[in-house]
Amino acid sequence: MPQSLQSLAELAARVAELEAERSMTLRLAQTDSLTGLVNRGAFTSGLCERLDKARESGAHVALFVIDLDRFKNLNDSLGHHAGDLLLAELGRRLREDAAPGELIARLGGDEFALVSDTPDVAGRAERLVNALGQQHFIYGRAVSPGGSVGVAVFPSDAQDAADLQHFADMALYRAKSSGGHRWSRFDAALRDESERRRTLESELRRAIPAGEIEPWFQPIIESMTGRMVGVEVLARWRHPEKGLLAPAAFVPMAEELGLIREIDEAVFEAACARTAPWVAEGLIESVACNVSPRDLMDPAFSRKLIGRLSKTALPATALTVEITETFLLQDLALSRRHIERLAAKGVNVALDDFGTGYSNLRALMHLPIQTVKLDRSLIDDVGRDARVSKLVASMLQAARSLGVRIVAEGVETEGQALFLRSAGCERMQGYFFARPMPADAMEAMLREQNAPIERLAAVG
Ligand code: C2E
Ligand code: CA
Ligand code: CA
Repeated sequence: MPQSLQSLAELAARVAELEAERSMTLRLAQTDSLTGLVNRGAFTSGLCERLDKARESGAHVALFVIDLDRFKNLNDSLGHHAGDLLLAELGRRLREDAAPGELIARLGGDEFALVSDTPDVAGRAERLVNALGQQHFIYGRAVSPGGSVGVAVFPSDAQDAADLQHFADMALYRAKSSGGHRWSRFDAALRDESERRRTLESELRRAIPAGEIEPWFQPIIESMTGRMVGVEVLARWRHPEKGLLAPAAFVPMAEELGLIREIDEAVFEAACARTAPWVAEGLIESVACNVSPRDLMDPAFSRKLIGRLSKTALPATALTVEITETFLLQDLALSRRHIERLAAKGVNVALDDFGTGYSNLRALMHLPIQTVKLDRSLIDDVGRDARVSKLVASMLQAARSLGVRIVAEGVETEGQALFLRSAGCERMQGYFFARPMPADAMEAMLREQNAPIERLAAVG
C-alpha cells in the first residue's frame, strides 16, 4: 500500500475510533447510571422527536408518567442503598416488559416515564400498574412499593411535549391522591382545571405588583383580661372581578408557582407599616405573621427577614413569626438555625396548627419556641368530646411546665372560651371574639376597646 494510502486508512480508523468514543460519551451523558434507562434530558429530546414524526405520519403518541407510592417510606426504613436497589430492579422490569420501539426513562427520584404508540392505552397503563405492584426482594425482604401512572395522548389531549408532560402529571397527581396503585388518563375535568389554573396563574402574577394582596387582621385576646393584646396578619386578595379571596383560593397555587415569597413579603411589609404605630401607641403588644414552609426552605430566610424588619418601624420584639409543624419536621437542622437566628434578635417564633401533626411538646424544649398555637380542629371538639377536653387540658398543663405560651385558635363559642380559660389557656383567637378584618376596622376596634373588653369577664 502506498504511503499516502496507508496513512489515509490510519486516519479513517482514527476517525472511527473517535466517533465511537464520542457516541459512548454521548450515551453516558444520556443514561441514568442507576437504572441504565435514558435520563430526563435525553427523554425530553426523544419525546420531541417522536412528536415531530407523529405530526408528519398522523400517528398518536401516549405518554405515561410513573411514580412510586411509598418510596420515601422504604428509603427511610431500609436505607438509601435499598432504595437504589429497588429503583434498579424496577428499571430492569420496565425495560423487560417494554414493547419494541417504546422509550423508557428515569426522570429522577422515583419518577419514570414511558412513551408508546400502542393503540391500547388502557391495557398498557394497567400492565404498568401491575408491574409496579409486584413483589421485589431487597436484603431478603419482600417489598411491594406499588405505583401510580398518569397518561396523556398526542394529539387528542395535547399538541406539544410541554403540555403532554404537564397533562400526564395532572393525571398522575389525581391517581395518587385517589389512593395510588392505579392509573388515570387526562380528561375533560382535568382540562377545565388546567384552564382555571392558567387563568389564576396569570392573574396572580399581575395581582402582586398591582397591590391586590392586602393584609387583614384578627385580634388575639388575653384570656384573663379579655383584652386584645396582639393581631395575626392574614392575607386577602382583592380580586377585581371575583371580589375578596381567602388564602385557600390562592396560597397553595402561589406556593406551587414559587410566588409565595413575593406574597409573604408584600403582606409583611404592608402589615408592618400599618401595625408599627399600634405597637408604638401601646394598643397591642405583638403582630403575628405567617410564613410558608416554602420560604423557610431558603437557608437565607431568617437573615432576609431580619433585614426587611430592620427597615420597618416595628420593633423585633413585637414580631411573631408563625411556622407550621410540617416544616419543622421536614428539616430540623434548618428550622433550628432559622428559629435561633430569629430568637437572637428578639423575634418570637410560634408553632402554628399544633395538634394536627406528630411532634410533641417535649420535642420543642430543644428549640427556642415560646408560643404554640393549638389547632382549630382540637378546639372544635373541646367541651363536646370529653377525651379531647382532657387532652387539651393536659397539653395546657404540660405547656405551662415547659414555659411555653399557648394560643387557642378557632374559638367560636362561649363554652369553648370558658373551658379554655379555666384550663389555664393564656390567649385565644377566633370568631367568638372577632373575625379577620381590614386594617381600618382593626384599628378602630383597637382604639375603641383600648379599655379592657369585658366580654369574657362579663360571661365568666
Ligand atoms: P392559619 O395561620 O391557621 O390562620 C387561621 C385561619 O383560621 C384563618 O383563615 C382565620 O380566618 C381562620 N379562623 C380564625 N378564627 C376562626 C374561627 O373561629 N373559626 C374558623 N372556622 N376559622 C377561624 P384564613 O385567613 O382563611 O387563612 C388560612 C390559612 O392561610 C392560614 O391558616 C395560613 O396558614 C395561611 N395564610 C394566611 N395568610 C397568609 C400569608 O400572608 N402567607 C402565608 N404563607 N400563608 C398565609
Ligand atoms: Ca397562623
Ligand atoms: Ca393555625
